[in-house]
Formats: sequence, structure tokens, C-alpha cells
Amino acid sequence: MVRYQPFALLFGIAAFGSIIATAIMWPRRRLTPAAGAMTVAMAGLAWWSATKCLSVLATDLEVKLAFETAIYPGVCACVAGFFCYAKGMADRAWTLSRSAAFLLAIEPAFAIVTAATNTWHREFYAGAVLSGSPPLLAPQPGPAFWVHTIYSYVLLAWAMFALVRACLQAPRSYRGHFVWPLVAVVPPVIGNIITVSYMPQGKTVGLTPVFFCISAGACCWALLREALPELVPVAGRQILETISDAVIVIDRSSRVLDLNPAADRLLRRLQPDAPPSILGMQARDVLSIDRVLSAGSDAEYTLTAADGQRFDLNVRHSALSDRANRVIGWVLVVHDVTERNRQRHELRAANDELREQLLAVERLRAELAEQASRDSLTGLHNRRYLIGALDREVALAAAERRPLSVVMIDIDHFKGINDRFGHIAGDEVIATTAQRITALIQEGESAVRYGGEEFFLVLPGCTAEQARQRAETMREVCVSSSFIIGGQPLTVTISGGVAEYLGSESPAALIEAADQALYVAKSLGRNRIETARATASSSDGRKTSSACPGGL
Ligand code: GH3
Ligand code: MG
Ligand code: MG
Repeated sequence: MVRYQPFALLFGIAAFGSIIATAIMWPRRRLTPAAGAMTVAMAGLAWWSATKCLSVLATDLEVKLAFETAIYPGVCACVAGFFCYAKGMADRAWTLSRSAAFLLAIEPAFAIVTAATNTWHREFYAGAVLSGSPPLLAPQPGPAFWVHTIYSYVLLAWAMFALVRACLQAPRSYRGHFVWPLVAVVPPVIGNIITVSYMPQGKTVGLTPVFFCISAGACCWALLREALPELVPVAGRQILETISDAVIVIDRSSRVLDLNPAADRLLRRLQPDAPPSILGMQARDVLSIDRVLSAGSDAEYTLTAADGQRFDLNVRHSALSDRANRVIGWVLVVHDVTERNRQRHELRAANDELREQLLAVERLRAELAEQASRDSLTGLHNRRYLIGALDREVALAAAERRPLSVVMIDIDHFKGINDRFGHIAGDEVIATTAQRITALIQEGESAVRYGGEEFFLVLPGCTAEQARQRAETMREVCVSSSFIIGGQPLTVTISGGVAEYLGSESPAALIEAADQALYVAKSLGRNRIETARATASSSDGRKTSSACPGGL
């Protein structure tokens, strides 16, 4: 008959709590090794408590002992799970390797097999008696039990040592995150010490799983509230470890609270004689924190390292606040942009140089084009230029329906000047006559050297008569201004032929008409200006210019 057994209720509650904790942690097992380990520990605890409950409820000594030896798969899972949980909490990058899992499995396999086969060798429990009312099992521990117990303590002590060390090495503001894992490990250890101490005297039943139940509560709390963000950011921490940007957490007094490896490398480059652990070091001197914080949240600085090397750093910062919204520190994200700036600078310099070269090439090209369109003796544009200029003016005159006239001018009897005074004197006559003609040229008009001693004028806006008057003025200027050549005065005359664009002539036809009018002027005795006469074209009835002896 099953009698009321208060310990059975305790174990039942522990088993129930452990099952709930397992169910809560199971979905989180992939987020972090610590949650996976805690799932194993809680499942082990559930097994441990449930078999313990059955052991207490059983009345027969042999059945009680059978259940007592059946607790060990749960015990081992619980110890190994807590060990891995503590390792995972102490070092968030920690994962259980295959070889570590194999090593961790050796002792549990030994303990489980030895406990299960205890009836044959009595090495785990040398014997057991029932004591008290209702009767409780009081097993006599054997050598295998002590081996297993010492092993479990060593493993848990190792885990606690890892947690305590991680807690001490962490910045002060992070230490609170180690409280729950430490609290979770302590109660079962105390419970187990009590149990093991009293067990040989048969004074108590093993209450360790009940104490572990407190751990389950603490761990659930840690996972759901306090420590959950600490378990999940394993990936975040790994990102911080691997990114090339330096991330530095400083407190209000600019003390370095946390930093990633990139920040460690950067600070060491800036200050090569930095201590082995930069945590706790003053970042103020190295990074000019006051400047950084007073500037915008994204600014660039040039810093000179202790060895004189210059660094361009892009620093972004954001404030860390406590619950009362007081600033308690800052997170600085520092990006070394020295190389990028150097490349930008080189690119800009190369661009400037290229732009200069392009400008020089363009200048040279324009100069060459200008030189190619200029006559070296007179400085006037040449015939090559005339072709383009006349095309443009004819098109404009046609589009705007405004007058346009051209004049062909030729120095009279120039061959004789060459023959009498030589080519150099002839050149001087050509150059001076060019000056006299261009002095009378107005803005928007062009004078070009058409040939040897021939000049061609393009006079937009001038009718034939206006052009003739302008050419007549030039002729008079030439007649009235004599040359002194070889000590003798020499009068040089010019003749001119005028043609007006009348709406249908091509530029070539206009030149031809002016040339014909010049021919008329020459044939009529030279030193005169003749105008091409307007004639009706046979095809479309429009007027065109053509020369005829006698002019108008
Ligand atoms: P016309 O009154 O009929 O125009 O008689 P012309 O002597 O001026 O006859 P033509 O136009 O045939 O002669 C032009 C001469 O100009 C021929 C050529 O040797 C000379 N000449 C051409 N270019 C130059 C030059 O650049 N310098 C010099 N000095 N003479 C040139
Ligand atoms: Mg000529
Ligand atoms: Mg001539």
C-alpha cells in the first residue's frame, strides 16, 4: 500500500517544474549553446526528480533501490548540462566540440552502467536499509558512488570557476549578468553537500533535485527576463568580434568598458605602449573623446599616433542611458578611413592633373585651330576661315532676311611693287594695306586675306550700296596714305568688287560675283569699286548678283 510520503510531493513538484523549464527552454536551444545546455540539464533534472519520486513512493526495498539506481541518467545529464550552461554563459563564443562531448560522456556512461548493474557488484551502493516512518531508503555509498560524486563536484566547480572568472574580468556594468548563472549553480551544490553528508547515516533522502528546482526557476527567470538578451547576442558578439570597424564602449569618465578586437588593434596602433588589457584604460587621451562627443554623431578626425603616423578616423557615437535616462556612457564606432582618404586624395590629384592636361590640350587645339585659320603676314583670318564664316553669315542672312554683302579687294599693280622694291617691301605693303582695311571693319564684320594681295570682306547687315560706300572709304584711305619705300614716297591703290546676297546665292556664287565685279573694276582702269548687278534667276525667278562692265 502506498502511504503518504511528503518527500514524494517535493520530488513531484521538482519533476513538474523541471518539465515546464525544459518545455520553455527547448525552443531556445538553437539560439545559444547555453540555452541548449540548460535544456539538457532541465530534462535530466526532470528524470532525476521523477525517478526519485517513484523511489520514495515505492515500499519494497529492492524496488526503491532499483529506482534509486535509475536516477543516474538524469543526474549525469543535469551535471553535464549545467557545466555546458556555465561555460556558455562565461564565454558566449563557446560551443560544445565533438571531442569535448565525447570526454563529457565517458564518466556518465560509466556511472549509469555501474549504477544499473549495482545488484551484481554492489560497487555503487554497498547496501541499503529502510529507516524512519514512512520508511525512506538509506543507501550505503560504494566506491563508484564516490567517484561519480567527486567527478560531478569537480565539473561543477570548474564551471563555477569559469563563471566567477568571466564575472571578474567583465566590465562592472556587465557583472550583473553573471549573477543568475551563479545563483543557479549554488543551491544544488549546497543541497548535494547536505544530502551526501547525511546519507551515510541514513538521516535524509537525496534532496538535490529539489534544490536543482530552484536552479530551474533561476535559469528560467534568467532566460525569460534578465539574461535572455545575454544569451541571444552570441551572434551579435561574434559579429562584433569579426567586423573591421572598431567598437568601443566607454563610461562617463571615458574609461574603456568593452571593445572588440578591431578596437583593440586600433587603440594599440594609436598607443603602442598600451597595457595588455585595454579594458579600464582611459580612452580620453588616445581618442580626444571630448572632441568626439562635442562634434556631431558622425564626424571625421585626424589623429597622430605616438610614432608620428597619422590616422584619419570616422567616429560615430551614441549615448548609453540608464533607466532614469541619464547618460552613463557611449558606444563609439570608429572606422579607419586613412587608406580611403589617401585613395580619394590621389584620385582627386589625378583628376586635377587630367583636367589640367585636358585644358592644356584644348588650349593647344584652339591655338592650332586659330593659327591654322590666321595668316601670319597680316594677322587676318585666311581663306580656310572664310569658308566657314561665310557659310554661317549666308545662313543667318537667309534665316533673318537681313542684308549681307561681300567685297573682294585687290592691290593694283602689285607685281610691279615686288619687281621694283623686292618681296620684303611687297610684304610690308600687303601688311600695311591689311591694317588700313581692318581699321575700318566694324564689330560683327570680317576681313580675311583671300590670296596674295587680295582681301575679302564679309559685311552682314550691309546692302550692296552700303558695302560699296564702305569699300570706297577704304580705297580713299589707301590712296591718301602713301608708303615710303627706299626713301621714296609710293602711293598704292586698291580696286574692289561688291556683291550682295539676294536670297538664293551659294557662298561660292557670292565670292564669284564679287570677283567678277573686281575684274570689272580692274578692266575699267583700277583704283575703283564696282558692284555686281542683280539679275533674275531663270529657274525660280529669284534675284542673284552678277557682274557686268559698267557696274550699276
Ligand atoms: P592687278 O592690278 O591686275 O592686280 O596687277 P597685279 O600686278 O597685282 O597682278 P597679280 O594679282 O597677278 O599679281 C599678284 C602678285 O603678288 C603675284 C605674286 O608674286 C605676288 N605675291 C603673291 N603673294 C605675295 C606675298 O605674300 N608677298 C609678296 N611680296 N608678293 C606676293
Ligand atoms: Mg591679285
Ligand atoms: Mg593685284
